[in-house]
Amino acid sequence: MNARTTFARSAIALTLVAGAALAAPAAYAAGPSDPSVPGGATRNDGDQTAALRDAIVAGPAKNVILLIGDGMGDSEITVARDYQYGAGGRLPGIDALPLTGSYTTYSLNKDGSADYVPDSAATGSAWATGTKTYDGAISVDIASKGHDTLLELAKANGRKTGNVSTAELQDATPAVQAAHVAGRKCYGPDSAKQCGADLLENGGKGSISEQILDTRADVTLGGGSESFEQTAKAGAWPSATLFQQAATRGYQVARTAADLAAISAADQAGPVLGTFSAGNFPTRFAETTATVGGADAAPVTCTESADRLDSSLSLASLTQKSIDLLKGDKGFFLQVEGASIDKQDHAANACGQIGETIDLDEAVQVALDFAKADGNTLVIVTADHAHTSQIVDSTPPTSLSIALKTTEGSTMKVSYGTAGAGGSQQHTGSQVRIAGYGPGAANVVGLTDQTDNFFTIAGALQLNRDLPALSAGATLTVPEKVAPGGTIALAAAGLNGDRQVNGSVSAAGAAARAAAETIGRTDVIDGGVGLSLTAPTEPGQYTVALTGEQTGKALTATFTVAEGAPTTPTASPSPTAPAVALPPTDGNGGSLALTGGTVGAAALVALALIAAGLLLARARARARRA
Ligand SMILES: [Zn+2]
Repeated sequence: MNARTTFARSAIALTLVAGAALAAPAAYAAGPSDPSVPGGATRNDGDQTAALRDAIVAGPAKNVILLIGDGMGDSEITVARDYQYGAGGRLPGIDALPLTGSYTTYSLNKDGSADYVPDSAATGSAWATGTKTYDGAISVDIASKGHDTLLELAKANGRKTGNVSTAELQDATPAVQAAHVAGRKCYGPDSAKQCGADLLENGGKGSISEQILDTRADVTLGGGSESFEQTAKAGAWPSATLFQQAATRGYQVARTAADLAAISAADQAGPVLGTFSAGNFPTRFAETTATVGGADAAPVTCTESADRLDSSLSLASLTQKSIDLLKGDKGFFLQVEGASIDKQDHAANACGQIGETIDLDEAVQVALDFAKADGNTLVIVTADHAHTSQIVDSTPPTSLSIALKTTEGSTMKVSYGTAGAGGSQQHTGSQVRIAGYGPGAANVVGLTDQTDNFFTIAGALQLNRDLPALSAGATLTVPEKVAPGGTIALAAAGLNGDRQVNGSVSAAGAAARAAAETIGRTDVIDGGVGLSLTAPTEPGQYTVALTGEQTGKALTATFTVAEGAPTTPTASPSPTAPAVALPPTDGNGGSLALTGGTVGAAALVALALIAAGLLLARARARARRA
């Protein structure tokens, strides 16, 4: 049995037993034994009908892993494959997915007409929300209306969520799952000019970094620490840096490989925010420079970059870590981006681009290994848009080019022809590949549009996309009676469609109503809100009101302040209410995410309940041991 036959048998086995049939990556690295003889270069071993039929597995899927090669058009895939594995070789991850199609990537101009060459913001928004939009838009449509993202919807439906990129986390591809802004450069609270109306102080939802904290994925890993070092200018956490705010809101913040290694659990009470570089990650391979006539020079071999991050922070390692933190009963949605295929293509840096493609391919192998063992995971690998690099036959006379010596010893000439030296090479408007494995993967086959990917994933995860319906059954409970100045435990549950609530407490009497106090803006944890309030000293009847920020769900409950009532009464929770996870208190001022404000002495004062903090601490200790 020659190498080709060995490979082909593995490919057949791949599809015969769904969920347990992906061959070891090494099998795919074997190329044809002799491509010069008839049949020597074929990739099929006989008729594929039965194998293809068996690869089609109906959804739903418990988990979905979406891997994006930014700027990874067909030419970028081929450049990397030729260089690393040879012309007849296979990328062990990307080329192993059994069901493949192409999708269109065009974006829109603001007047709704077609823009044939999109950017990463419009394209990411397309699969994140199912909506075509303009270049620069982060999950808002051409009328500037925000649309719920796959990550937000997965979370609202009780799935765990992750968002991983080798770019700064504010970059378009990670941002489209966690933020809604009109301009993609609205990175942090200091980006006043780029954010405009989206700034908190202008009544917006805040910068991308602030919205990442609001969206609260269970796992968020990448670069971009610079923006999280900035200080909020408005909102519930003014005058603290976004890293401080994250800690206050219960995040486990990781800044180094050791920090990340020490984290063994991630959930809504203790989500993980890991940033490992100020901006984008350094690349895997050292930079090469294409020049006019450059492909006539001696072919170069790519070398490892001295700046590359620790191997535990490679895209494959971060993908593995995310899967380990997300897998479990709830199911999960995880987006993973290899960002710098695009960035190095812009820079006409062939080795940079190749190394990032190999990096993504290794992350795909990690995802496939998990999916194979799990048997109920949909893996999709695609790109956001095509890019410049082209494999050419002879050195182009006027455009930039470089010659590379491939693994099989041949010379490959790569050209960058959409900008001059020192300029930024352009995206291109070609359709790109989309490939799938697992339940629901048939939906990538043929010609689809990028927006189809939203519905493919939402369908596979059976996501209810009606957020108000997900909060419709919410409940709010407070004790009936409390002594003046006593402590009231407030518990809301079932707010699954909401990520934050805003609340107030007011006296029942008309005169006192004007003195209503805000409870502030509070994170909803697993559909629940638990707050501890200090009761007014003035006897009377009071009303607590909570409103879900995303759905508008309004909840009210009343309590009476009376002399002789218990100082720390226990609420009798509604028997049908689901368990409530209390919001985190994390040492950092103990503000219990109760912010909003100034709570006057004459009315209610919000305080961290020590007992609640202890309960949470115990719950977390259990989670880490598990
Ligand atoms: Zn780009």
